Amino acid sequence: NRHFFVGGNWKCNGNKKSIRELVELVNAIHVERNSGIEVVCAPPFPYLDFVRSLLKKEFGVAAQNCWITGSGAYTGEVSTDMLLDVGVDWVILGHSERRHLPELQETDETIAQKTKRALDSGLGVILCIGELLQEREEGKTLDVCKRQLSAVAKVVTDWRKVVVAYEPVWAIGTGKVATPEQAQEVHNSVRQWFRESIAPQVADTLRIIYGGSVNGQNCERLAGQKDIDGFLVGGASLKPEFANIVLSHR
Ligand code: 13P
Repeated sequence: NRHFFVGGNWKCNGNKKSIRELVELVNAIHVERNSGIEVVCAPPFPYLDFVRSLLKKEFGVAAQNCWITGSGAYTGEVSTDMLLDVGVDWVILGHSERRHLPELQETDETIAQKTKRALDSGLGVILCIGELLQEREEGKTLDVCKRQLSAVAKVVTDWRKVVVAYEPVWAIGTGKVATPEQAQEVHNSVRQWFRESIAPQVADTLRIIYGGSVNGQNCERLAGQKDIDGFLVGGASLKPEFANIVLSHR
């Protein structure tokens, strides 16, 4: 039984005032104790501690990145120990913006190393995968997802604290959401890959969430798909409709 998981990826947005207001909005979402719905907020680094102190205890906090090793001479980086120290539970890794922004260009291997480090430290990982528009048009969607997952599978064996987020890059921030059928098809194939390449038990229990232009209107039909176990929300996680997305699971 896979608990519904909804993450709000706030990306590089907010200030103390707006973040306080946003946390109040999230705290007001009435999630039934026994519903099993998991809610996680991912603010930018400088606000992690602040958000942890304000957010309801039953909701989780995620960082949007982490460093590959422990503390040391790595100017500008943030170690997993620091994240744990301020009460962070999760880290988003492999987001398409970190993979594809020309200034960042994180590779499959870097993302795999970060995933291993985060899991070894005790953090949960929201591992993002997904194809570019051109790759979809060339029929390479599954190849890309499998390549991104295989890099991680080379260094990670315990998948219990991983949530995979399928985020087709063409759907991110574009208002062009994948249809429920398109998303379900990929989620099902990704689960199949886990069944064949990792283990049936991992395939059955792993949560695969969808990200890319999810909003208060389209969430319900997506949530109704068999292999969609929740969402990673960008733009709409900064708005009141985030509540509808959290509660879209019947
Ligand atoms: P949008 O919901 O703004 O399309 O962003 C999705 C995303 O990148 C979540 O990580």
